[in-house]
Amino acid sequence: MLTEPKTNNTETDPPNQPHVVAIFALVGMSITGLMAVVGLINKSFLLASTLFVASFTYFIGYYLYTRHGRTRLSSAIVIYSLYVLMVYLVFTGGVASTGPLWVFIVAPVSVYIHGLKRGLIDIAIFLSVICFIMYMPQNVLSQANYSPEFRIRFILSFLTVVFLSALYEYSREKWFNHTLELSKKYQQLALLDPLTKLSNRRNAQLLLQQERSRVTRNQSCASVLICDVDHFKQVNDEHGHSAGDIVLMELAKIFTHTIRHQDNVARWGGEEFLFILPQTNAPNAHVIAEKLRNAVAHHEFKVNDKKLKVTLSFGIAEIDTHQDIDQTINIADKHLYTAKNTGRNQVFPRAEGSQLKT
Ligand code: GH3
Ligand code: MG
Ligand code: MG
Repeated sequence: MLTEPKTNNTETDPPNQPHVVAIFALVGMSITGLMAVVGLINKSFLLASTLFVASFTYFIGYYLYTRHGRTRLSSAIVIYSLYVLMVYLVFTGGVASTGPLWVFIVAPVSVYIHGLKRGLIDIAIFLSVICFIMYMPQNVLSQANYSPEFRIRFILSFLTVVFLSALYEYSREKWFNHTLELSKKYQQLALLDPLTKLSNRRNAQLLLQQERSRVTRNQSCASVLICDVDHFKQVNDEHGHSAGDIVLMELAKIFTHTIRHQDNVARWGGEEFLFILPQTNAPNAHVIAEKLRNAVAHHEFKVNDKKLKVTLSFGIAEIDTHQDIDQTINIADKHLYTAKNTGRNQVFPRAEGSQLKT
């Protein structure tokens, strides 16, 4: 049974790299600030003040991201203030009707910040607004005068940039997701024992730490069991190493079917297994260990057309918040050693009042 240890996850980030939002904000702030100064020099006071407002807005976006980590708010400020500024530039024409030249920025920035789907929706709405402004009669609202040739070429070239940006973003997202999947797969493999497909020792150690923290936090209890196959060397010697492997794989299946949903089992070493039992004190851990011991003792392993039986010895330790995990494991190990030395095929400590061996 493979249970992955929990990791910290920041789910609040937008699909693309958040630090790019800060760079967009910084670049936007600098360019609009610079253009505002040029506007002032050219005595275009309305354009200059609009650009100063835009520059300040980008500054707020940058500040919110760097100082307060407000990625979503910061990217919303960057992208929507860009739309507003572009609409303004198309509406007024900017300096000598060159305003629309800046509109091409919208396509890559939109798909990059909002991802392919949302970015394209935003661009479609934006383009509709731009077309409306460009094609409405000049004397009604718009201050700029664009020739029919300019308008059609502008829209077509904008659509080409949208197409290329979408294509780029599509392949970027595809490869990003592919890499993410691969990395998750390898992360899982790194926590898995290849033979039994149970958690490996490394994963078990992480799960043990988590369980110990949970016991401390909730003031609850938990136990660990270490079990070892009795005389396993004999199985290998008499039936071959691959027969031993089959026994280990089958044991793993019996374990996963026998333990409770909340329990974990891991391959701790060669033919040693470790069970982590949340909300379980030592007497209850004993009950579970006996259940496992019985299930295996009564199971017939079919190997190379032969039937063979194996038994297990168990050591129990209750997780104690005054001890570290290594100390708990040492106690379980010592108990396992006692179980071995006093006859095998048994659980130690024994249940109160029970006889030496079943
Ligand atoms: P005891 O009851 O004292 O535990 O006796 P034992 O024979 O089980 O103990 P010992 O430590 O002497 O032997 C363990 C054996 O487990 C030796 C080793 O070859 C075998 N083993 C360890 N890992 C694997 C594995 O992955 N596959 C197989 N087939 N055997 C393994
Ligand atoms: Mg053994
Ligand atoms: Mg052993």
